[in-house]
Amino acid sequence: MEIVAPFQDAIDAIKEAGGDQFKLCYQCGLCDTVCPWNKVRTFSMRKLVREATFGLIEIEGEDIWRCTTCGKCPQRCPRDVKQIESGVALRRIATQYGVFHPTARPLRSVSASLVGAGNPLGEERSKRADWAKNLSVKTFTEETELLYFPGCYLSYDARLKKVAAATVSILNNAEVDFGILGSEENCCGESIRKTGDEQVFKRLVKENIKTFIENGVHKILVSSPHCYHTFKNEYPEFNVNFEVIHISQFLLQLINEGRLKLNKEYPKKVTYHDPCYLGRHNNIFEEPREVLGNVPGLELVEMADSGKDSLCCGGGGGRIWMDTPMEERFSNLRLQQAIDVGAEVLVTSCPYCITNFEDSRLSLEDDEALQIKDITEIIQEAI
Ligand code: SF4
Ligand code: SF4
Repeated sequence: MEIVAPFQDAIDAIKEAGGDQFKLCYQCGLCDTVCPWNKVRTFSMRKLVREATFGLIEIEGEDIWRCTTCGKCPQRCPRDVKQIESGVALRRIATQYGVFHPTARPLRSVSASLVGAGNPLGEERSKRADWAKNLSVKTFTEETELLYFPGCYLSYDARLKKVAAATVSILNNAEVDFGILGSEENCCGESIRKTGDEQVFKRLVKENIKTFIENGVHKILVSSPHCYHTFKNEYPEFNVNFEVIHISQFLLQLINEGRLKLNKEYPKKVTYHDPCYLGRHNNIFEEPREVLGNVPGLELVEMADSGKDSLCCGGGGGRIWMDTPMEERFSNLRLQQAIDVGAEVLVTSCPYCITNFEDSRLSLEDDEALQIKDITEIIQEAI
């Protein structure tokens, strides 16, 4: 067991890394009762907090990498321990010492790819706008009203490029004046920050801010709740304030303004999954449901654990880049919850959720039993 300079030195290190709130914990254990990990295996945030209070952090262990930053326990904690920020503080120390449990080792290549090519997927920067070829997408200029920022997964991942294409077809249908920055765009940096790599996060933020300012960007449309969260709540730490809107909010706005007409029937039973970073972290629960409520023929049903109690897909906090054994995947449980309410389609609005759900779908006995969709893919079919 590797312990960073036990006791006072370690307590100071945790405090310096942002984990000062640990000391407020009075060990009630509420965090453990709501944590999704305890649906698939044992994991105790309470224990982690306790050990950190005494400076006893086992930074080589797996537990510090487990939290998906889903936001469930902070909303229940009676002592405002700020488990996410405090947990990230432990990861910062491990990152600083270069100590990574095997589960977290992929983070090294993720960081290298972010620094070298601006994305976590090991893809070439020059190919970032390839998804938009033949789709009537213009390059953003100072005169363009709206910057569409698809983010890394929609730019490169074969499944998620379809979501970017659906978004573009909706924006064109509604005659929105938008453009993209293509290879000038960098990863937003949200998830690498939650892994404790503050240095890479800051580097990405600075590059993005410079690009946005140089290109005259004021308003940004995003597809990912993670981009939304960091642009809206974290970038202001760097003295900038861009107007940010998530696609689920923008769709509702376009519908309410009469710019987007949903004329075609979508006669399916659909259930909506609230992504953690859209719902719990940013309070966007109603807009996607209202959008779906405007689709003719669509029947919306709610799963267990919806709204502020939504079950995490398992992809936040950098977990999207770490291996989770099949029997420990929250996304498997989520698919079962969708099937239990008789849904034909599980719809969401986050690239990590879609990636995890598509993976889990393949493990179903009948992988055609449930479709996984982004909200834009349903709207595209309804216009
Ligand atoms: S819910 Fe808060 S106070 Fe209770 S054990 Fe967890 S961190 Fe401590
Ligand atoms: S934020 Fe979510 S995943 Fe992390 S410890 Fe709390 S409940 Fe568990």
